Amino acid sequence: MASGGYGAVSSPVMAGCVYLVGAGPGSVDLLTLRALEVLRSCDVVLHDRLVPPEVVRLAKPTATVTYVGKGTDVSTAKMKVQQDDISSQLVALAKEGKSVCRLKGGDPSIFGRVGEEMEELCAGEVPFEVVPAVTACLAASADARVPLTFRNCATAVRVQTMNPSTIKDERFDWSQFAAPGTTFALYMGLNVVEGVTQKMLCAGVAPGTPMALVDRASLPEMQVVAGTVETLPELVKERSDLPGPALILMGEVVGLRERIAGLRAPVPTLGQPAIASVLAQLPSLSDDELRQLQQEVEETRQQRKRKREELEAS
Ligand code: SAH
Repeated sequence: MASGGYGAVSSPVMAGCVYLVGAGPGSVDLLTLRALEVLRSCDVVLHDRLVPPEVVRLAKPTATVTYVGKGTDVSTAKMKVQQDDISSQLVALAKEGKSVCRLKGGDPSIFGRVGEEMEELCAGEVPFEVVPAVTACLAASADARVPLTFRNCATAVRVQTMNPSTIKDERFDWSQFAAPGTTFALYMGLNVVEGVTQKMLCAGVAPGTPMALVDRASLPEMQVVAGTVETLPELVKERSDLPGPALILMGEVVGLRERIAGLRAPVPTLGQPAIASVLAQLPSLSDDELRQLQQEVEETRQQRKRKREELEAS
């Protein structure tokens, strides 16, 4: 990534380049500074279903913003056509000389189909950058107060997709979930909890293995439902208040949460992460950059003033 300020260049992104950016699990304040910088600078933004409107809104006002989400009930064949189309769009837009932000929920490299896009960008000889982010299992672990690793209890973490095709896969090895000392983070499993747990039990996973579902991690509506491989299906069944996205955590560490969850730090109602990040960066800016910032602040205030006056006059 470009570093050391923008003294020599006028923008933190380059024309003709694609940025494969992770938007994090949903909460705006979990965006990385680099993601924010890229998002608010690119000419074009193509975003997925799981990127919330509050994040998309951070694109620069003149950017072309397009939703390219694939929906949840799309067939694998249709999904491939849609994915190929997105990858081709990225190449075409970059070749037109645009700076392109491809914004994905969570981290781009975890079930984010970033690989397919990288292949296409390589083939089209389009330069790109991957901007990593907080993936859903990290946000779920924080919210559920379940450390993913814990000395003498969990020494490995396994990230696994659990969509309906996993259940239909005859060759899938369900006994792997009996592995000791392992925390499992199951993505996309909300609608298949019953099928998944049945398969696990048949494959010899202990019924008492702790298991929790974390719905909408990082968002104010977040909920945790905790049980075991045996009890979780009944606990989440017909719960219309668990719309997802949801992640399932499983393993001995999940059982520790009652002992170590502790007290929750109250969330200030008027938290201002955006201001905090701007202020934190001020000391590292050069005099020129501070002047540029001052100018942009003044321009933004003037634009708002003009808008207010226009509104009042109409
Ligand atoms: N690239 C994403 C994952 C995309 S797959 C990432 O790194 O997080 C989509 C799945 O991610 C969802 O079905 C759900 O299992 C999980 N997920 C995404 N956001 C979530 C959230 N805020 N809370 C819980 N699970 C989430």
